Amino acid sequence: MDKKIAVFPGSFDPFTVGHQSIVNRALPIFDKIIIGIGINHEKNSLFDFSKRKFWIEQIFKKNPKVEVASFKGLTVEFCKQINAGYILRGLRTSADFEYERQIGQLNKSLFYEIETVFFLTMPEHTFISSSVVRELIKYKGDMTKYVPEIIAKEIMNNY
Ligand code: ADP
Repeated sequence: MDKKIAVFPGSFDPFTVGHQSIVNRALPIFDKIIIGIGINHEKNSLFDFSKRKFWIEQIFKKNPKVEVASFKGLTVEFCKQINAGYILRGLRTSADFEYERQIGQLNKSLFYEIETVFFLTMPEHTFISSSVVRELIKYKGDMTKYVPEIIAKEIMNNY
């Protein structure tokens, strides 16, 4: 049987405890999870790609089932290239659902073989997003509860 490979796509600017929880909960279901950092030149990121990648690698360094990669263009094309049959996404709110429904159905119509798998966020993570964390960093608020420790430490020391 083919290995169950999932892509968890996103900007991860930066990776939050919400993202971490989705990956950890999905791990028992898949043989491999590729965290795919989408490179989108129209989105101005706060953290450069190599920093975002380094942090995620550190967070999962003890777990050989997790890899980090970058991709440009369509998520389904990236999945095809690396032989991934699943796209992993998190759902926080009904607004997330409406957005994800459209993209998920579009992806299904583009490439039928790929299934999108959704995880409901933990209730305590529903209000956490990378953009909220970026706002906290900008206005020097406490973001330490919302990102993994290694990221919090480095941001507190350098930003
Ligand atoms: P995008 O640029 O695609 O929105 P993000 O990095 O913001 O990328 O998010 C990637 C994925 O993680 C999305 O499926 C999103 O719904 C999910 N996600 C984001 N924040 C959380 C959270 N707090 N809890 C659970 N899932 C989340």
